[in-house]
Amino acid sequence: MGKAMGGEGDGSGAAADAASALVKLRSALQGLAPKLCPSPAPIAHGTPGAALTAELLERLYKGEGARGRLDKLLKTGGSSASCQLCSGALQQPSWSLDWEVDVAKRRMSPSRCQLLCGACAGIRDLPALIKRLSFDQDAAASGSEVLRHFLAVNGHDAAEAHLLQDAVSVAHAMLVIQKELRLALARGPPLQELLGDSGDSNDSKGSLAGKRGRDESEVDGKVVSGTKNKKVKKKA
Ligand SMILES: [Zn+2]
Repeated sequence: MGKAMGGEGDGSGAAADAASALVKLRSALQGLAPKLCPSPAPIAHGTPGAALTAELLERLYKGEGARGRLDKLLKTGGSSASCQLCSGALQQPSWSLDWEVDVAKRRMSPSRCQLLCGACAGIRDLPALIKRLSFDQDAAASGSEVLRHFLAVNGHDAAEAHLLQDAVSVAHAMLVIQKELRLALARGPPLQELLGDSGDSNDSKGSLAGKRGRDESEVDGKVVSGTKNKKVKKKA
């Protein structure tokens, strides 16, 4: 654990294991579901996506009017009138957050906020998806609808139906690990950027923080960019 930051001694070995497991799982998930995957984020689901996102962003970006901004964006259909994941019609639109997890610091921060159609949002919501898949065992109605959407958006063909089940398993494994880490929620990029209309703005906006010299570097949750690859790599 050479590079680990100030390792407080307690369980940093376990954290390194978790980190390396998460790296592997994440890349597996990426392979199974490159565009639309169930979200492994350990946040309380069960609240409809839009309400949950507003609630979380209100909490993380206090006093910045997150809820109002989301409502406004929703009314205007965001940057486009289509789902930001599948480009389909925005039926039952819902917000969905991507999260970046920093195992060493035990925290997770939103990295992207997308406006999704109901079908995509339904697949992003892992606990709801699991329920749906296990209760619709004959998969006749909603199950096959979900499956079709999942396969189409990810560019798989119909014969690869097992990929959905695999993606669910992998995402669930990630969720369990991340839950155990008891990650604290932290701010991600500035709200405006998070909700930005560029859709796929990545962490490349270093210019904001870049100028202030690196002795101040590790600021508290302001910009948690570019930390993705710095995780301690461990040879299994
Ligand atoms: Zn969609």
